[in-house]
This record gives sequence, structure tokens and C-alpha cells, in this order.
Amino acid sequence: MSTFNIESFTLGPFETNAYLVWPDGSRDAWIIDPGFGPAPLLEEIKKRELTPTAIVLTHAHLDHVAGVADVRKVWPKIPILIHEAEKDWPSDPERNLSAFSGMPVSAPGPDRLLKDGDVLRLGELDWRVLHTPGHSPGSITLHQPQLDVAIVGDALFAGSIGRTDFPGSDFDTLARSIRERLYTLPGSTRVLPGHGEPTTIARERAGNPFVRG
Ligand SMILES: [Zn+2]
Ligand SMILES: [Zn+2]
Repeated sequence: MSTFNIESFTLGPFETNAYLVWPDGSRDAWIIDPGFGPAPLLEEIKKRELTPTAIVLTHAHLDHVAGVADVRKVWPKIPILIHEAEKDWPSDPERNLSAFSGMPVSAPGPDRLLKDGDVLRLGELDWRVLHTPGHSPGSITLHQPQLDVAIVGDALFAGSIGRTDFPGSDFDTLARSIRERLYTLPGSTRVLPGHGEPTTIARERAGNPFVRG
């Protein structure tokens, strides 16, 4: 099996985790959720001489899309991928909540719309798009079974879950996404969340106080 690298960068005032994903021996890379102040991420890409081939957004809240324009300045043609339910959100400061933060963000894109079950290929591996709404209507998880990893955005955190008090959020929907789409993944699955430390499906299924397994 090819070796993959997944490096996290905690960016901006909301301490959002951006992820840089690339296979060993390849220049192709994905940028996932470039938030406020993505300079460290961009420097790493340059240092490693990678060529990002896509920006994949787990959802369109401001802290996950604020750096999209900065990436586009360096790579003007890089496609931006987001779930179809949030196609209008990156560019809309009210929908991406930035209008209420004092830091209005109008991000470019999207260029390609995702839906549940889509498969995205990077290097030799396929990543499956799981629609995991609740924190926001178009939240997605990127699951790669061979690497045993799930990039979950703000659906599930170590010992916590995403907020459901935003417009478009819904606790019952999030709880269902977590129980039916995430807790059903293998327990060994490494969970890489949009905020905070990594965890595993087994650990959250056994001990998450907000959504019981
Ligand atoms: Zn969010
Ligand atoms: Zn977030």
C-alpha cells in the first residue's frame, strides 16, 4: 500500500485544523479547510514542492473557508469542492457566519459539488464522501478505509460534537449522522476533526458524552 501523509495546521482565531494530504512520491496534494491565516500551510506546500490539485471543504463556515482566497492567489485554477447543500455559502458572509464575526469572508468557488457516496481519487487511493449533516446542512466526512482515517470537519470532536446552535444546524440530524455514518465505521478509524486533537471511532463510540454509541 502506498504511504500517505496527512499534516495538520491549526489556523486562526478559531483554531481550525486545516489538513494537507499527499501520497509519498507524488506532488499532488489536497488542501482541506484552509482557514484564517493559511501562510504556514502554503509555506509547507512550497517547501515540499507539492502541487495542490483540490481544495476540499468539509463545510462552509467562515473558519474553514477564510483561507480559500489566499490559496487561489497562489494557484488560481485550483478547484474548490463542497457539498451541494452549501454551494452558495462560501461567498455569502451571512450563510458562512462571517457577517456576524466582524471578519466578513466572501470566498471564491465552488467549482465542483459533492454528494453522499462520491468517490475522490488522490494518488492510488479513493476517498469516499459521507454526507454527515447536522452541524451544517452540507457537512461532509472524507473516509479512506485503507488508511483507516476519517476527516470529519465539525461533526465529531474528541469528547465533543459540533455546535448545533447556528442557523441551519440541527442536533437530532447531527446525532443521527454520528450514530449512523461515523460510529458504524471501524473502531480503529482515526478521526481527524476540524478542531482539537485527533481521536478514534472506538473511543468516541465508548465515551462521547454528547452522542452515545
Ligand atoms: Zn463549523
Ligand atoms: Zn469550525
